[in-house]
Amino acid sequence: MDLEIRQITDSLKLVRIGLINYFLFDSLLFDCGTTCTALKLIKNLDRSIRCIVVSHAHFDHIAGLEVIKSEFPNAKVFTHERIRGLVKKEKVIETWNNEDREFCDKFGEKANPFNLNFEIENANFLEDLKIIETPGHSPDAISLLNEEEGFMLVADALGYPLSSGKNIPMYFYSFSKYIESIDKIREQADIVCLGHNGAIFSSEYCDVAIEEAFKLRKEIQEGLTEEELFNRIYKEEMSLYPLSTIKAVAKLLVKRSIEE
Ligand SMILES: [Zn+2]
Repeated sequence: MDLEIRQITDSLKLVRIGLINYFLFDSLLFDCGTTCTALKLIKNLDRSIRCIVVSHAHFDHIAGLEVIKSEFPNAKVFTHERIRGLVKKEKVIETWNNEDREFCDKFGEKANPFNLNFEIENANFLEDLKIIETPGHSPDAISLLNEEEGFMLVADALGYPLSSGKNIPMYFYSFSKYIESIDKIREQADIVCLGHNGAIFSSEYCDVAIEEAFKLRKEIQEGLTEEELFNRIYKEEMSLYPLSTIKAVAKLLVKRSIEE
């Protein structure tokens, strides 16, 4: 897994490890990635972490939390309130561990099995960052906005950016909420920082994400099947995810496209 460190604004730094983007803002870390990427992250940090924000409850954003927490036990953790209940479910933790292990295996890396026992803090320690709820990709997705420098950390709210430049729409929870959230992001941010593949764009990228979402929904409504969709997206970086994860992705995209 290759590592890239890039200064984005005066105070925002990207650490990309393979497919996973980590963002550092002072002593705050946005997103936790997987366990094997988190192990690489903590070896390459130039600072100590006091706040950890988890963008949403998908394994490739939350699995690494325990690794990071054990390196920085005093760090406060902030997530959407809904995640508090999710992490207590054994089945959810088991599924995330399986996905994490398969993902790390594909890169020849060892996963670090986890249980997620942590306290969710009130957001009052976030200071220069404003929490913006951006559901649609998932019900519990949050983004962080820094008004002074104009950047917004949006994780998967704008879909999955492949390094080939393609955007895979990811309205797993709700198509209409996904579009609403993208509109909200475009109104407030100048720079959008996504969750994968080092993708950082001007807010015009929001138009690409919206266009791709409408295009895909139309194709599905006109008959594109789950299997065809799966075959189309299980390529490039997406093929580095567990097969079961991408099957679930295709299923959800079809479901959300026909229900609204
Ligand atoms: Zn996600």
